[in-house]
Amino acid sequence: MIKDALGKARSYLSNLANWNTSGKKKGQPGSPGASNHPTLYDEAFCLDLDATDLRTGPRTCFARLKVYTGTGWEWHNYPVKLSRYFQARWRDSAWEHHSPKLIVRHKSAALHFPQVKHVEAQRVKESKEDPHLVTVGVDLNVKNLAVVTVRQDERIIETVFLTDHGLDQARYRHLKKIARKQWQTGKPLKGEHSNQQLWRHVRRTNEDAAHKVAHQIAEICAKYPGCILLFERLRKIRPKGGSKSRRMNRRQANQLRGKIKQYTKDKAYASCSTVTAEVNPHGTSQYCSRCGAKGERFSSRGGKRIVEKWGKLFFCPSCHYEANADHNASKNMHHSFYHKLHWQWRDKRRADPPPVWLKGRWESPARGTPRQRLAGQARLARGTKCGRAIVDPNGARPNPHALLGYT
Ligand SMILES: [Zn+2]
Repeated sequence: MIKDALGKARSYLSNLANWNTSGKKKGQPGSPGASNHPTLYDEAFCLDLDATDLRTGPRTCFARLKVYTGTGWEWHNYPVKLSRYFQARWRDSAWEHHSPKLIVRHKSAALHFPQVKHVEAQRVKESKEDPHLVTVGVDLNVKNLAVVTVRQDERIIETVFLTDHGLDQARYRHLKKIARKQWQTGKPLKGEHSNQQLWRHVRRTNEDAAHKVAHQIAEICAKYPGCILLFERLRKIRPKGGSKSRRMNRRQANQLRGKIKQYTKDKAYASCSTVTAEVNPHGTSQYCSRCGAKGERFSSRGGKRIVEKWGKLFFCPSCHYEANADHNASKNMHHSFYHKLHWQWRDKRRADPPPVWLKGRWESPARGTPRQRLAGQARLARGTKCGRAIVDPNGARPNPHALLGYT
């Protein structure tokens, strides 16, 4: 451990010298502190899971550490608690174990073992060429934590709704309590945290929900080997409006979405080498997943349809498609991944095939009948007026609303 500290100080000094000579302004190396936890190398620790009987309880497992008693170095046994997932990975030969770090906290100490697994996976671009590629779209929300749709050959083959089982409401109640307590105590003291237990509880429940949902999504992915997992690029949503507790709750919900995404990515990659792709989230909840037209959200109350922005249902005025709004958004993610409907390449160079030499003049191939061609030109003229035009190479209009100047 002393050697470890010496090594850290030396590395800091050499890093600092390098930084001074490099002449950079940013990135001055920080001095080594408590967050640079000491690493225990092979001759200083020993953890033998196979020698101990794990069935009688987690307490029976010991880690042997070489400690300095003041007069000499001795081996001592320390009881450790392990999670069953750690044990499974420890026994699995596919996982590699690195030297642990010793983390000393206020009332406890922990050994953190980095576990590494090498995963072979296909690149997204290569697997996109497979015509029977399975894509798993995940739409993350507040109450329906995740809506998973599985698509193959342009057909949705599985849909799973993963709800939060009242987590959002429960968290809101806790945060309301915190807000009230803060209001009662007045201005908080600097450097002091209040309501620690409640916050810890909120954090723990959030963390637990994220792991559970991530595990469920990873299990769905495992059913379809070689599939691609789709997530939206998460937007930065500023919580605004409403009471303090409402804003705090929204912030927590946003954090939960990020956690679910991260954990799912890791779990799916480690367990079934599923690659995750991020798609353009623009308008996934606004456009119809069947025809691509802009729809509206509504809720039905007393048998009547009431159009409102926060409605849970989606309605398309052009093809009269009705669905759960989150489900519609989840289906749209596949379109976004394949750049279909609303998510086509806007850049003309990518949308159109290269022009060919035709009857003495340059023209795009397969333009259709002269009448269609005329219509196409008219559309082009209209399109330039509103800035962006999407014209299919064969004159067909892929999306009736694409020409109306929607971006
Ligand atoms: Zn529609």
